[in-house]
Amino acid sequence: KDTSLSSISIASDQLLDGLLVSAFDESSCLSRYRSHLYRKASPYKPSVYLISKLRNYESLHRSCGPRTKSYNKVMRKGPKLSKNDAGKNCKYLVWTASNGLGNRMITLAAAFLYAILTDRVLLVKFGTDMFGLFCEPFPDSSWLLPRNFPYWKGQKHIETYENMLMNSKINRSNGFLPQFLILNLQHTHDGHNNFFHCDQSQVLLQKVPVLILSSDQYFVPSLFMIPSFTQELSNMFPKKDTVFHHLGRYLFHPSNEAWELISRFYEAHLAKENEKIGLQIRVYNTHRAPHKTIINEILACTLQHKLLPDIGVPKTVAESHLKKQASKAVLVASLYSEYGEKLRTMYKANTTVTGEVINVYQPSHEGRQKSNNDTHNIKAWTEIYLLSLCDALITSPKSTFGYVAHSLGGLKPWILERAYGETFPNPPCRRAKSMEPCFHYPPKHDCRANNTIDFTSLFHHMKHCEDVSSGLRLV
Ligand code: GDP
Repeated sequence: KDTSLSSISIASDQLLDGLLVSAFDESSCLSRYRSHLYRKASPYKPSVYLISKLRNYESLHRSCGPRTKSYNKVMRKGPKLSKNDAGKNCKYLVWTASNGLGNRMITLAAAFLYAILTDRVLLVKFGTDMFGLFCEPFPDSSWLLPRNFPYWKGQKHIETYENMLMNSKINRSNGFLPQFLILNLQHTHDGHNNFFHCDQSQVLLQKVPVLILSSDQYFVPSLFMIPSFTQELSNMFPKKDTVFHHLGRYLFHPSNEAWELISRFYEAHLAKENEKIGLQIRVYNTHRAPHKTIINEILACTLQHKLLPDIGVPKTVAESHLKKQASKAVLVASLYSEYGEKLRTMYKANTTVTGEVINVYQPSHEGRQKSNNDTHNIKAWTEIYLLSLCDALITSPKSTFGYVAHSLGGLKPWILERAYGETFPNPPCRRAKSMEPCFHYPPKHDCRANNTIDFTSLFHHMKHCEDVSSGLRLV
């Protein structure tokens, strides 16, 4: 009896409380079946409704995905189609990459949610820099956009969303709708004013068979502003700050190559530790504050919140060989080697006031961002994932790399304040209110009243972000 109970609970842990299906070949994606051995079970359970939406999505993807009859039919069509054609066929949302891996992953999750809400099939345009990162998320099909997609190479001559909005205002649509449409929701592209969160825009977009999305933003809060999606979203996510946590764990399974790096590092360094503290140190401008200031800020934060102990006195030779005390691991993710080195030296040379041994690890130090490089991206993904396995996280402000790590891990991080020069602010860090990523450039336009609005006054489940005051986070 005991064995059957425990095997039921293993199966439920493995499939993340029903989020995942068992329809995959284990050897094709080891992480899918083994991550539960590394990650504590999430205290946040997916709703029954979310699970049913995911199963429905999988079946839509199976029947409309690449190389199906439906796919070929829609993709073969010319650039325009008549109104009568629309609505009968499968519809698609093509995701394209912009910016670094963190940005890409938050937009992918947002795109997936948008696809679910609009009955579209999500296809991803991965170049070689993304190819080796993730397993296929949907059973019996592929999410990779086929190379023979008509606009794989260039997207000139495709109608744009802005144009369509403008034409619809002056009633010039001619009874024809574009077959393919570019939907640019990048923050540099007038992010605050794109009207994407207005129902009228959604009515138009709904008629276009193939949307080609380019975005670097976590636009999920926009979806919560759209009246026609509200009910579905609250059924799917009764607890609103779990959107990325669930969708991220559903979508992003490290490929076998990435899993090898993750599991090897974890087994070698982290598995044996009592507690794991992750430090994600993203420095956008190395001239603004020297590494030393940032180290001091991190130490002030970890001390204030009792995440790491203060150092005591210099270790004697005998003490530096003692191995038996309780220990904590610090996992440092940064482009710069200075952080890991400085912390490692400090804790090696000194005792701690609690007597704990602190072991510091930094898997890589790439020096600079190289987002078009596959081995660089696999290291980034490895570190995001390892951070997500920690018990507590300290992250850098405005960094989507950190957002993905804490959301996947179901953690509310301590976010560092921005430091300038030799000094850092007091308090040095603040606890995030929610585990959701922040939407850095949310809309400010009230679609009905046609004026500017602060959406936190309309929706109690949206708050300004701790690290980006004009940004929005679901709470
Ligand atoms: P953001 O710029 O912090 O919002 O995060 P992104 O992930 O979008 O872009 C930063 C990119 O720089 C990452 O994807 C990595 O390619 C690289 N990078 C930044 N920080 C780290 C780090 O700690 N470790 C590794 N391996 N790469 C990093």
